[in-house]
Amino acid sequence: MFAFLRPDLARLQAYAPAHPSGNSLDRLDGNESYLDLPPEIKQKLAWTYQEIIATNRYPDGGHGELKEAIAAYVNTYNPNSPNSSQQKITPEYISVGNGSDELIRSILIATCLGGSGSILVSEPTFSMYGITAETLGIPVQKIPRHDQDWSMDLEAADTVIATQEQSPVRVVFVVHPNSPTGNALTPAEIAWLRGLSENILVVIDEAYFEYSQQSVVGELVDRPNWLIMRTFSKAFRLAAHRVGYAIANPQIIETLEKIRLPYNLPSFSQAAALLALQHQDELLSVVDQVIAQRQVLIKELTSQPDLQKFFRVWSSAANFIYLRLQNEQNVDSSQILAQIIHEMQSLGTLIRHTGGGLRITIGSPEENQRTLTRLAKVVDRLF
Ligand SMILES: *Cc1c(COP(=O)(O)O)cnc(C)c1O
Repeated sequence: MFAFLRPDLARLQAYAPAHPSGNSLDRLDGNESYLDLPPEIKQKLAWTYQEIIATNRYPDGGHGELKEAIAAYVNTYNPNSPNSSQQKITPEYISVGNGSDELIRSILIATCLGGSGSILVSEPTFSMYGITAETLGIPVQKIPRHDQDWSMDLEAADTVIATQEQSPVRVVFVVHPNSPTGNALTPAEIAWLRGLSENILVVIDEAYFEYSQQSVVGELVDRPNWLIMRTFSKAFRLAAHRVGYAIANPQIIETLEKIRLPYNLPSFSQAAALLALQHQDELLSVVDQVIAQRQVLIKELTSQPDLQKFFRVWSSAANFIYLRLQNEQNVDSSQILAQIIHEMQSLGTLIRHTGGGLRITIGSPEENQRTLTRLAKVVDRLF
């Protein structure tokens, strides 16, 4: 081991990326959209690259045009906000990151780094909060969820917050709806978030908002300690371009802007995000079909006797579903799940083993049918 590397990093594991290889497989392990950009839009993007972008010039380091477009999108595409007409999100409320991943790191640097602060997460959840915190030496407090509906154990959370004296909780990370379990925040959970001290930053990750059609953005202006994260990697079909954004009080945004790298977002990615917003109706029109397909998958998994005997499946507000083994107490479920992943891959479908279960992205109707027949085949083979 090199003496110049921090010893605490040696025990950490890097984030395992989705589908490292496998172009010919059904890639249902990354929660991306199964659709590429439509050819006409891709053509426009290629034209932008050819005619507008000067490769010798740095990108727009202030993201001015993109922030305007994002703010307009946040205001118009706001499903459940009674106040949206009075309280507009302006570009001062927006910071753009190289994926939400960059924003997570900036948030941690802005709040806990080099101090005594810790973060709180409720597992199972998106692993990047914990992974990134640990790379910065920031303690991660973990509380469980109730497995009937995957809501958080709020009593456990209150206890952790009340008793951490060494490293007080400075940030609470929640996902709305959560990954990998698919549940949106309940009214009780949202009420709990409202009741948290203003000395705690509340990060609400709405990566799957376009699928859930539920957002807390309507009360953001009234909640100076709340930050919403969103991304272009999911419903907007731009995972390749790495664009995420934060919506929060301008004072928080100003701090995040100090921390981010000056030219964090390539010109091509900025152009892609702008174009996607210009074509938002067309790109998001497939959301209804994904939701319908999700219901088909859940219905089959809960009604086909072989599958239903074997898997427990929950409802979902996102573009994926979450499964666990029915009798997980009596078996080494992690080993069986690993076997299922392996068998599924050999049949041609990549799915994700995470949070003690299986997370399966909703793909095209054909891919989803193959998911069902292949799961049935694997169950049959293994048992
Ligand atoms: C996919 C996902 C993101 C998106 O991350 P990017 O870095 O923007 O691609 C963020 N949060 C959650 C919970 C996700 O599942």
